[in-house]
Amino acid sequence: MRVLVSGGAGYIGSHTVVQLIAAGHEVVVVDNFGNAKPAVMGRLDTLTGTHIPMHAFDVTDKDKTEHLFATERIDAVIHFAGLKAVGESVQIPLDYYQNNLESTFSLLRAMRRHGCHTLVFSSSATVYGDQAPVPYQEDYEPLGAASPYGRTKVMIEHVLRDVAHIETDWRIGVLRYFNPVGAHVSGTIGEDPQGIPNNLMPFIAQVAVGRREKLQIFGDDYPTPDGTCQRDYIHVEDLAAGHVAALNRIVNSDDPIRTWNLGTGTGTSVLEVVKAFERASGQPIPYDVVGRRAGDLPAFWADATRANEELGWHATHTIDDMCADTWRWQSQNPQGYDDSVEE
Ligand code: UDP
Repeated sequence: MRVLVSGGAGYIGSHTVVQLIAAGHEVVVVDNFGNAKPAVMGRLDTLTGTHIPMHAFDVTDKDKTEHLFATERIDAVIHFAGLKAVGESVQIPLDYYQNNLESTFSLLRAMRRHGCHTLVFSSSATVYGDQAPVPYQEDYEPLGAASPYGRTKVMIEHVLRDVAHIETDWRIGVLRYFNPVGAHVSGTIGEDPQGIPNNLMPFIAQVAVGRREKLQIFGDDYPTPDGTCQRDYIHVEDLAAGHVAALNRIVNSDDPIRTWNLGTGTGTSVLEVVKAFERASGQPIPYDVVGRRAGDLPAFWADATRANEELGWHATHTIDDMCADTWRWQSQNPQGYDDSVEE
């Protein structure tokens, strides 16, 4: 298939591009480089041995999106593009609602107009809110989220369900990600957050490489085995493989829409991640335990049974793999993509 990947220069998008091409698909990328670096594209060309067509614009732009579909043959879309920082979404909610919803509307309308009805959408475990029993299962209702970012995901899930309910020629896969970490095993692409990382793994990696002095652990008085929060960390390569599997499944399915959790099914604590990273990098990770971060849940992980059974997909990478690959990326690119010459 010829797959349009919105946000294809981003962290999860770029890893998915590599796997799509390895699986025999053709890829077209659209990215506004709001949170990604143009240097990614050259690295993707090198990694895949092919020149990937690239459109540099924001898919909220309806005219440009329409023009893209009018001039490129597109069989399916994987929609990653969007704003994703939970804390920032509290500060600028209108930007989050506008960007994440409008980009989806713009794509859906252009797709429909051009007879393309196959879509994989990036959702998040945040849609389970703070009441769902652990492990999280796809059928849980009602969806809810504690941040504007999370609520954009809930809203888009509802939009997609309502559309697919009445326009039954759609084939939509909704993927709820747990905590994506890690990098391509080559160390050439990885996560390159702007400014101070909000997430645990990139922060630890920047401490290990000497860019930050120490980690702050947000609370060790949670009702968990070691008192620190537990999350379901999933290697970005497993996540990328989940997209390829979901795409193959939806095109051969009678369901207009289906949702899958992409997680490992196990929880790992903050302290366990710190220890695993020390093992992988051979570097000490100094840390202070500080107060809890507002909005953090003590512990959650996926029930990944549905994805295992229906997609024939399993997460195969361990937390040690995740740390080793993050470290390879970070140590080869201490300043992220800024170390490279833009192509
Ligand atoms: N965390 C931490 N220090 C940091 C960043 C994160 O202790 O600098 C903790 C956070 O409280 C949570 C876990 O690491 O328990 C994962 O946080 P992250 O932001 O990576 O993902 P979340 O699950 O919150 O989306």
